[in-house]
Amino acid sequence: MATKTVNVSKPYTWSEKIYLLAIVQGLLITLKHFINGFFLRKHNTIMYPEVRREYSDRFRGAHFISIDRNKTENCTACYLCQTVCPAECITIVAGERESAHNPDGVKKEKQPVKFDIDALRCCFCGFCEEACPKDAIKLSGKYEMAITSREEAKYDLVYLKREVKGRG
Ligand code: SF4
Ligand code: SF4
Repeated sequence: MATKTVNVSKPYTWSEKIYLLAIVQGLLITLKHFINGFFLRKHNTIMYPEVRREYSDRFRGAHFISIDRNKTENCTACYLCQTVCPAECITIVAGERESAHNPDGVKKEKQPVKFDIDALRCCFCGFCEEACPKDAIKLSGKYEMAITSREEAKYDLVYLKREVKGRG
């Protein structure tokens, strides 16, 4: 059976064809922004980096691994975060911890000898943070993650163990 094509497009009216109304509307919007910015000092942009936006406490930025008071990472290389990561961007290699009991009295038998996160693959879902039984891996409030090479996107243990105050 032959299909029937129905043309549902509406023809332009005369006033729409000359675009006058649309041009005036556009100019009024521009004028509104000019008055807001120039006279009323209401800006939609900020003078970054001198001024910084407040982000929500729930913002998920660059990862870090929490450390105890002996500067030992709380991670026990259990692989849970690596297993749960949907982007498969965590690579851990576990090793023996030199002392099975650290001075805090917390038993930590394993430690990561390698802990890499490929930040370019990460989708910052926070699953790794949720899965960690040791509250070791966390996503900080750090949002300045601009890089100039792919290598810099690889967060290694040295970077991850950086000291983070609060949410960083
Ligand atoms: S935030 Fe999500 S994607 Fe990124 S490392 Fe954690 S689990 Fe993987
Ligand atoms: S960061 Fe947490 S979940 Fe990941 S390996 Fe270490 S202890 Fe396990």
